[in-house]
Amino acid sequence: MVLRTMRAVRPGEVPIDGGTAVQDHPDRPVFRGNGEFDYACVQCGNVLAAGMDPAYMTRRVRVRCGRCGTVNIAAEISVAPARRQRGGPR
Ligand SMILES: [Zn+2]
Repeated sequence: MVLRTMRAVRPGEVPIDGGTAVQDHPDRPVFRGNGEFDYACVQCGNVLAAGMDPAYMTRRVRVRCGRCGTVNIAAEISVAPARRQRGGPR
């Protein structure tokens, strides 16, 4: 299992949609899957999501740490395949 550190959501960074998952218990990851990466809080290192595939850890996935309260977002958003027209405006 590879541990990745998430990053804090920057002020003014507007969520695209959805909400922020709140970790109820610091010892229990909010998400648990069959991927190869654990995602840890940038502030305290607490594991927020375990066994995740990077494809799921998009900009939409935000987790409030149950230990320190930091709202985290996956740092490597670009890992998810972007559906972007090559050469287009976006
Ligand atoms: Zn934390």
